Amino acid sequence: MKSLPAKKLLLAGAGHAHIGLLRRLSTERSDNIDITLVTEQLQFVYSGMLPGWMAGHYHLDDITIDVTSLCEQSSVRFIQHPIAKVEAASCTVTTTNNEIINYDVLSLNTGADTDTRWLHAAATTQKTAQTTATTLKDDTDTDTDTDTNASAVIAIRPLSDFIDRWQQILVDAYKSTHYRLAIVGAGAAATELVMSAQIALQRINPKHQVYLVCGEHLLSGFNSQFRRRVINQFKRHSIIVVYARATSYNEGQLLTTQESLEVDTVIAATGVMGAEWTQHTDLETINNGFVAVNATQQSISHLNVFAVGDVATRVDQSVAHSGVHAVYGGAVVADNLLSYLEDKPTQEYQPRTRTLYLLSCGDKYAIASWGSISLQGRWLWYLKQFIDKRFVKS
Ligand SMILES: Cc1cc2nc3c(=O)[nH]c(=O)nc-3n(C[C@H](O)[C@H](O)[C@H](O)COP(=O)(O)OP(=O)(O)OC[C@H]3O[C@@H](n4cnc5c(N)ncnc54)[C@H](O)[C@@H]3O)c2cc1C
Repeated sequence: MKSLPAKKLLLAGAGHAHIGLLRRLSTERSDNIDITLVTEQLQFVYSGMLPGWMAGHYHLDDITIDVTSLCEQSSVRFIQHPIAKVEAASCTVTTTNNEIINYDVLSLNTGADTDTRWLHAAATTQKTAQTTATTLKDDTDTDTDTDTNASAVIAIRPLSDFIDRWQQILVDAYKSTHYRLAIVGAGAAATELVMSAQIALQRINPKHQVYLVCGEHLLSGFNSQFRRRVINQFKRHSIIVVYARATSYNEGQLLTTQESLEVDTVIAATGVMGAEWTQHTDLETINNGFVAVNATQQSISHLNVFAVGDVATRVDQSVAHSGVHAVYGGAVVADNLLSYLEDKPTQEYQPRTRTLYLLSCGDKYAIASWGSISLQGRWLWYLKQFIDKRFVKS
């Protein structure tokens, strides 16, 4: 009797969920499934430890996972290229170098992009104004000006690019007598980044200064005691907080709805928007490019496509884009992929109503939030370190 051809499972993106799946596949492998991972980087950078790396607590090796060796251990074919297009009708994915990959089942875990629309909107407005006023200057010059300004604004994602840019910031800070850095964002990631950056820059020169430009609502969604504790830590670190919305960056000036700040560099940690490739897909997307999924994390338009983590948005309930849900949702997706391939029923991912958030304050001190409860202390930093290291090393 002839055996059936192997089913093709394609994993796109080496995010939290696929790291978990690869680890699982290294010990339990289903027969008759041909698995490929296509992703943009050889290394997965763990965002939870990135602020600790910036503050000097970790080496780069401590916060990264080697994706290729995980693939080798689990006999998964590895392709290093970002995906550019998903055509679910023909079950194909196209990479940025135009390689077309077929699949029977697709799992998407490519994360999301930093939302820098505030900057691009302002840059476009400036460009229009400049083009009208400067009739002698051609369009190419105007584009170059805009790009130069935009290049002083560093998006936190992709993390691998940010790592290079942060190292350049440190080089520049060593050369400067008064380096000024603004971080734009109001979420937990932005607040962790601002404290780590202040510690790192003031270690080089106490005159260096970091600003947080956070709009009107800092840490919305967290309890008020947690927020107060974070603000107290900002005071302890002499961080200047600007409660206004950043609108543009131009020639060393970060414009906000209230004031203009003279800064050398801006880091945008302004939440997430849909990944670029989602503009080239027939999968149903919502809220500016997130793959719309149901409770089993399956695309609502194509059931043989699963998506989890920041790339996806649930249509049945509100689930925050966070690493926690990428990990826990990812474990359910791992089960579902294997079940779906074997024609077995899939299960729902039920997010916990409360999740523990441990926010590091830059100097081995942390604040915890769990529902309406908040705690702080040095021991919490060590708890965070234990949890984070366990994730990376497991
Ligand atoms: C500084 C910082 C600290 C944070 N701390 C926490 C925290 O403590 N707790 C928490 O819950 N959340 C935290 N977050 C949020 C968390 O990082 C994200 O929610 C989480 O990374 C999302 O995981 P993911 O698996 O969906 O995607 P990601 O972790 O972003 O992984 C996506 C993967 O896909 C790859 N990829 C990207 N584009 C493509 C493409 N086109 N084709 C192929 N591959 C691609 C990437 O290289 C990457 O390997 C933090 C975020 C930041 C920025």
